[in-house]
Amino acid sequence: MLRLAAVGRHYSDHQVLHDITLTVPHGQLLCVVGPSGCGKSTLLRTIAGLLPTHDGTITLDGTPVRGVPDHLAVVFQDHARSLYPWLTVRENVALPLRRRGLPRAQRRAEADRILDRVGLTGAARRHPWQLSGGMQQRVAIARALVCRPSLLLMDEPFGYLDAQTREDLEDLLLEVHRTDGTTIVLVTHDIDESVYLGDRVVVLSPGPGAKVVLDLPVELPGARDQIATRGLAEFVALRSEVGRAVRNR
Ligand code: ADP
Ligand code: MG
Repeated sequence: MLRLAAVGRHYSDHQVLHDITLTVPHGQLLCVVGPSGCGKSTLLRTIAGLLPTHDGTITLDGTPVRGVPDHLAVVFQDHARSLYPWLTVRENVALPLRRRGLPRAQRRAEADRILDRVGLTGAARRHPWQLSGGMQQRVAIARALVCRPSLLLMDEPFGYLDAQTREDLEDLLLEVHRTDGTTIVLVTHDIDESVYLGDRVVVLSPGPGAKVVLDLPVELPGARDQIATRGLAEFVALRSEVGRAVRNR
């Protein structure tokens, strides 16, 4: 379980996060929403151990986060810059396994298994620059999943994609979440996306000193479906509630 207790963070004299307290149980898909510039990426990088906290503590299963924890994977917004252009798709995906010292044949088999899962079987030998934006983001997701992380952090992972690709990848993520039980913290500025994906939505106030202004469980009947779910009265009501919190009305 991930626990943030009174977490604060600033850049020199600019306070970005203020007194963030959150507990994310195992297996939850938490969406964090907030206006642009409020500190969402800062929060995610702090959870990832890439930035130190200045106030409060972050613990993962009781252990304080100092440096990037094992069993954690991060998907950044900018997929084009997060893949290595000189490596093939398969090599990009297998990279985290190399760091873990797995033999070559096993790295390859694991990479192919996960590429198959994200629908990229035919692209294993191509290079990232030969792929569309949506395919590149699939590669980034595959690389994040290849080590079977227990915690997956995603920073606006579908932000740059066209609507159809975005919906496909949202559903891929839901499928991974359902079958693997991975704990996921996903940051987005898209209110609809947060309600569609989340088991829970947390809204941050605009900075400086962003804090949690709404913490909402998302209970929707039936399996999530791009058309049916978004048409539900419950979905519309939750979306309005999140929207009001984001716009401070
Ligand atoms: P969000 O992801 O919600 O758009 P960020 O976490 O990227 O917000 O940024 C929050 C605030 O911190 C912004 O005002 C931004 O300008 C500032 N900021 C982000 N990164 C840095 C940095 N490395 N140095 C100084 N200020 C930063
Ligand atoms: Mg950001």
